[in-house]
Amino acid sequence: MTGTGWEWSDSGSTSGRMQQVVRTSADGPVQAAHASFMEHAISCSACGYGATRCPRADELAAAWRDAKQ
Ligand SMILES: [Zn+2]
Repeated sequence: MTGTGWEWSDSGSTSGRMQQVVRTSADGPVQAAHASFMEHAISCSACGYGATRCPRADELAAAWRDAKQ
């Protein structure tokens, strides 16, 4: 699972309530690596907004790929 989700929270009342939770333990590094790659791709003139990859973009893409493993 990634991002946010909804989990049932039993507050002790008869109705209970839904509580939004943020999952960060497992996919935090992956999202961080992806964010770094995307941030580079849209700001690097050599990458042409993601159309091509410069050596730095290759590094970031590799880091993102490794983070997913
Ligand atoms: Zn680049």
